[in-house]
Amino acid sequence: MAKPKKPSSGRPRHVPQRTCVACRETEAKAGLVRLVRTPEGVFVDTSGKQPGRGAYLHAQRSCWERGVRHSLAAALRTSLGEADVQRLMTFFDALPKQDA
Ligand SMILES: [Zn+2]
Repeated sequence: MAKPKKPSSGRPRHVPQRTCVACRETEAKAGLVRLVRTPEGVFVDTSGKQPGRGAYLHAQRSCWERGVRHSLAAALRTSLGEADVQRLMTFFDALPKQDA
């Protein structure tokens, strides 16, 4: 018996879904890295709880590079300076790679 795919309300075990701003695919929040806009620039929100406008990216080079260089600025309604790009790329390079 096929169940309708439409999400129904009131499901207790709902997993929050977020959208990667680079590839636009949705993913459980845990599979994505949150970036947050602050007055000092754009930072990786490792706690996932920093206040401010946030956006999500897959921890994959394709998404990360595309996001940092293109989609992230629009998603956060800001512009990324060279320092922001450097900081975010440095953070990514320190991550364990999932797409090697
Ligand atoms: Zn992605």
